[in-house]
Amino acid sequence: MDRLTKGLIKGLAPAVFSAGILFPLFPGFAGAQPVEVLWLGQSATRITTVTGKVIVIDPFLKKNPKTPAKYKDLAALGKVDLILLTHGHGDHVGDTVALAKLTGAKVALNADLGRTFASLGWLGYKQMIRFNKSGSIKPLGEGITITMVSAEHSSEVRVKGPEKGQETIHPGGEPGGYIIELENGFTVYHAGDTGVFGDMAFIGEYYKPDLTLLPIGGHFTMDPAHAAYAAKFLLKSKAVIPIHYGTFPPLKGTPAQFKAALGSSSVKVLDVAPGQAVTF
Ligand SMILES: [Zn+2]
Repeated sequence: MDRLTKGLIKGLAPAVFSAGILFPLFPGFAGAQPVEVLWLGQSATRITTVTGKVIVIDPFLKKNPKTPAKYKDLAALGKVDLILLTHGHGDHVGDTVALAKLTGAKVALNADLGRTFASLGWLGYKQMIRFNKSGSIKPLGEGITITMVSAEHSSEVRVKGPEKGQETIHPGGEPGGYIIELENGFTVYHAGDTGVFGDMAFIGEYYKPDLTLLPIGGHFTMDPAHAAYAAKFLLKSKAVIPIHYGTFPPLKGTPAQFKAALGSSSVKVLDVAPGQAVTF
């Protein structure tokens, strides 16, 4: 489906809100399974598409204090078709290598971060899709397009040594976010770790995301006030799942503060608990 057709369908497809859950109506996919988005704490997210493809983003699970116990067992994620990594920090890389080995899923990531993964012996080049910001890939077939976009953050890979206090630091490439355009036109923007940046206006205007996952914790990323500004004025988001808060003490921002900062905006906040799936 080309972008103009998608835009027209989105324009014709009103969103239905019910009990805090959003059900956009997409003609042509009646009877297909809904898009399911499962947030698992911090940045970790699993998206299941209308044709059953499974995309996992930033699978920091086993050591994630917010991940429900069930998902500490990586097999509980079920089949995984693709893993997306936003940057090299430990609370995002998490269990990426183990999950890729368990499921056979390819890992799409910044090209330079991929070189670091290869040089550390973590993953072979054949199991990675190394690309870069503004690049689009279709590893799950023609119907799903994934585009890497900017993030205002940093990236490095820290590897702990055998002795306490020993560690090595490796290049992490530049951090990014992802625009994930699904088979039915439903578009997700997962922002990764980021501050507000002006090109969020381009992302909002060009991709018109139906769902945005935005960090709100502050300290390492946007706080609730900045996230509300981004959602309301730059991205013009329809619905936002707040992420990257409450996991560690410095990440103090809360969904309540985010909602308060949005004020009377039409942005719908989907304040889900880790492990609580939302369908669209
Ligand atoms: Zn980070």
